[in-house]
Amino acid sequence: MENVIVLGGGPAGCVSALHLSRLGYQVHLIAQHRTSVIIEGLSIRVLEGLKNAGCVRAVALLGDPVPRTASWNGATSDANTEQLLSRREFDAALLADAQASGVAVTEGRIVNVRSTAEECRVQFVRLGGAYSEMRGHFLVEARGRRAPRSRAVATRGCPGLALSRRFENCAISHAGTWIASFPKGWAWFAGDDESGGSLQIIVDGARGSWARHSNLTPLFDALIDQIPEIQQCLGKNARAISPVLVRESTPYLHEKPISEGVIRVGDAAFGIDPLSGHGMFEAVGAGMAAAPVVHTILQRPRVAELARDFYRTRAREAFLRHARVGRDFYRSEQRWSDLSYWQTRRDWPDEVPAHAVPAGQVPRIQRTAVIENGFIERREVVVTANQPRGVRFIEGTPLVPLIDLIDGQESVDVKEGMALNWLRAQHIMGPDGLTVSAAQLRDNCTVRRRTE
Ligand SMILES: Cc1cc2nc3c(=O)[nH]c(=O)nc-3n(C[C@H](O)[C@H](O)[C@H](O)COP(=O)(O)OP(=O)(O)OC[C@H]3O[C@@H](n4cnc5c(N)ncnc54)[C@H](O)[C@@H]3O)c2cc1C
Repeated sequence: MENVIVLGGGPAGCVSALHLSRLGYQVHLIAQHRTSVIIEGLSIRVLEGLKNAGCVRAVALLGDPVPRTASWNGATSDANTEQLLSRREFDAALLADAQASGVAVTEGRIVNVRSTAEECRVQFVRLGGAYSEMRGHFLVEARGRRAPRSRAVATRGCPGLALSRRFENCAISHAGTWIASFPKGWAWFAGDDESGGSLQIIVDGARGSWARHSNLTPLFDALIDQIPEIQQCLGKNARAISPVLVRESTPYLHEKPISEGVIRVGDAAFGIDPLSGHGMFEAVGAGMAAAPVVHTILQRPRVAELARDFYRTRAREAFLRHARVGRDFYRSEQRWSDLSYWQTRRDWPDEVPAHAVPAGQVPRIQRTAVIENGFIERREVVVTANQPRGVRFIEGTPLVPLIDLIDGQESVDVKEGMALNWLRAQHIMGPDGLTVSAAQLRDNCTVRRRTE
């Protein structure tokens, strides 16, 4: 089997490496280990993807979900939870998981990358300073926001910067997260149950205005003064225990998520606004999708374009979905809609509804590219308003054959199960059988094609 080189050891790189290794490839992963302490929140949806990839050590690090209190547009809600993690420990555990599953992990700084359809070469400096080169058949670019991209961005959102700092002796009395909007942006505070906390303030990053300042402490303190909810979390005795760290948070979509011999995964393909809290979810999902795409390109070159198209479409749709959901959330904060930070974000990326499946075209059965047995295949799926990518299986039951089976019966005689419940919830099934025939569901798709 060919060998694949993965650049970067965050969630996207590690999950891609694990899945490629499972498909039989010799996988080499080169990454610089994370040194700075960054706290992030993991949405519960990521767990399944991590477990599925075999990230046992990383999953074992996760504690119980903590409550999330949001203060937005003058109202406070606490309906959500998230799991807090230190990215330094989490990423180290991901790398250990990859290594334990047969991925060859090398610590080093990548300095040069070249790739053609036949071969790719990576030059890097090993931990001790030795200069090395590695050759492979395919590259997985997973260096996150540090992956080279300056001239190749298809779409870029409003510039954003995240300033963060850690504190001790905070006033909070239980572990949790607090998010609060303010005239210049928004803030996220993650507190632990020992009165420690990590504060991140997101502001407009136009022309690197903040990054140019040599001493960010007074600016950071001045921002805190504008956010009463965060002042309450910190209290009077909080003491900073780290310098102010600056991270770029501008959303962008790379022009070529996949090209000759290279696939970009995670933040290397597209970066989303941290407001979504789904960056790691998308990185893990991209890692899961990248492996069958690479496998199809290398083993079934005749259908390589189907795999590339699947991956390009997937990246674009995910990026735009997050951008539009983010736009609607920014719009829901109406107190400062005339101020620069809020004004620019309420108009980007466009006016298309976030869940844009035109009424009358769903539900429908559509033939589309899907992942099956490690390859990209074209199969029939059921598309609904809230599942625009389509659904093929519910709890292991293939939906389209189930619909065809029910359609061919005089009376409904199918074992009850999750798949039937799902069809009922989508109003495809009523008490007496299908509410719309399989032919009509397929016709909906034909109508769509004619009008496209
Ligand atoms: C301010 C901010 C807050 C965020 N908060 C959250 C949150 O709460 N929840 C969430 O889910 N997401 C959050 N995100 C998004 C999340 O951090 C990313 O989406 C996610 O880490 C992407 O994973 P990745 O594997 O693609 O890249 P990364 O996690 O960035 O990993 C990149 C890897 O490449 C390595 N690397 C880079 N350059 C080189 C080089 N030259 N040589 C060798 N190795 C290299 C790095 O060391 C690292 O191992 C946030 C993002 C920002 C900017």
